[in-house]
Amino acid sequence: MALASGTILTGLGVGLNSVRGEVFWVKPQATLPGPAKHAGDAAAEKETLRRAIHHVAAYLDEQSLGAGETSAEIFEALKMLLEDEDLFETAIAEIESGWNAATAFIVAVDSLDEAFAGDAALEERLADLKGLVRRVAAHISGIQMGLDLPTTGSYVIVCDDFSPADTAWFTEAVVGLVTLRGGPTSHTAIICRSKSIPALVCCPQAIDLVDGMQVLVDPVGDRVVVGGDASMATKAISFVAKSLDPIIPVRANIGSLEDSIQAATTAANGVGLFRTELLYLSETTMPSVAKQAKSYAEILRAAPEGPIVVRTIDAGSDKPVPFLEMPHGDNPASGLRGFQINKAHRQFLIDQLESIEVARKETGREVWVMAPMIATASEAVEFAQLARSAGEYKVGIMVETPSIAMSIADLAGKLDFISVGTNDLSQYLFAADRMNAGQGALLNPWQPELVRLLKAIASESEKVGITSGVCGEAASDPAFAIVLAGLGFNSVSASSSQVGAVRSALSAVTLKQAHEVAQVALAATTADQCKSAVLDALATLA
Ligand code: PEP
Ligand code: MG
Repeated sequence: MALASGTILTGLGVGLNSVRGEVFWVKPQATLPGPAKHAGDAAAEKETLRRAIHHVAAYLDEQSLGAGETSAEIFEALKMLLEDEDLFETAIAEIESGWNAATAFIVAVDSLDEAFAGDAALEERLADLKGLVRRVAAHISGIQMGLDLPTTGSYVIVCDDFSPADTAWFTEAVVGLVTLRGGPTSHTAIICRSKSIPALVCCPQAIDLVDGMQVLVDPVGDRVVVGGDASMATKAISFVAKSLDPIIPVRANIGSLEDSIQAATTAANGVGLFRTELLYLSETTMPSVAKQAKSYAEILRAAPEGPIVVRTIDAGSDKPVPFLEMPHGDNPASGLRGFQINKAHRQFLIDQLESIEVARKETGREVWVMAPMIATASEAVEFAQLARSAGEYKVGIMVETPSIAMSIADLAGKLDFISVGTNDLSQYLFAADRMNAGQGALLNPWQPELVRLLKAIASESEKVGITSGVCGEAASDPAFAIVLAGLGFNSVSASSSQVGAVRSALSAVTLKQAHEVAQVALAATTADQCKSAVLDALATLA
């Protein structure tokens, strides 16, 4: 059915700016399999690897033919690196220790990190080589590489859903994004927010969009307008700062050195969530204390001024870490994860706390540590004991399960702070799998049931003298951040790209006004009503 100009498709908006572009349907690529052992035939694996490397070398020859002189030299240098015999021998040793061809090659290339470190040109070549490693792995698995996106023009790409790996293929021509599924805490939404790409997720009606149509992505209005232009965009409330400082501190969420450097360019007051597991998603061997401490120290040193909240590893479920097996049954979201690493790999947790302490001492930064996915007060106490004996930290936990949300009073005197992870708290509160993109609407932070639970968490924390913050995606929405301050939270932590907007919002209201706005949110009975009543209340204040 052809959609008439002016047709409105609704979903959940991500971002504050609208964009107009041409619809481009994307065929999703299969994701590369994770690290795995081979079935026992090492000789066959070696042969597979040799052929895959030849295949990618031939691809480089093709690229080099159509390239200018300088680029051709780079392709030639890359090909030499790719076909290096020592590198191949390292990979063979990994195959002999049991890894399959693709994993072995990835491990071999990762082992070059140290040798190439410190030389900018070599580091750049190594980054290119790592791109080629994905190509080698894809060839081995029979997967076509890349999303094949246009490189010029202005396109709104449309797909059922994207994976984090897909986003690596986004080109300059991708100005907006629409997905039929996906929710506000899906990886797609988190990445679009951090790359400042306006998006509409959870929009099943987008199935009727056709290549070539012009559309306006209007995230503030939670809609796409067929044939729309910028004049139709819903304006985000423009908050006029009344004070220099926000009513509560706004920190930044990070997961890598690049994120830390980026966060330091914002006005963030420190880091409210450092997701340490993101450093290790493709590591097949356990990093030593020295290696961990080195990367934590680099990240601490680069971070914006203020406290840095380091979360101990949240491995498991949708974030498998190859060197840490976290068993689960049929439902990965309910398998071992987060602090339960204490059951499966306790020594790693102890080593990690020690490494963070080494980095803290070396950099002189103020470090707070917290454990993810705590389910009971006794787990919280156990973590606090471990952390306090490892270093001079403020100690806290993430509140991501309804069970711990109901037990804040039991934490009195045991912890310095809590940080609410609304992404997982919503998942477990609404029984809506964060990975099952079709349940996105339940994961909308404006759901009144979530707002009421947040109120209880903030009030209980205040009663027992524990500092409370929110670091889930909900805190990246400026209007929702005002609600959080009004509910009684002491800080929020947002994606770097949103820190400025969240700070402006929290500088435009008084605590008393935020409290009144929170009451409006608490009175709502549906997510839509909650959001629109809060926006109306804020519009009268602006
Ligand atoms: C959360 O669950 O809200 C959170 C911040 O943790 P993550 O998104 O890393 O699971
Ligand atoms: Mg979480």
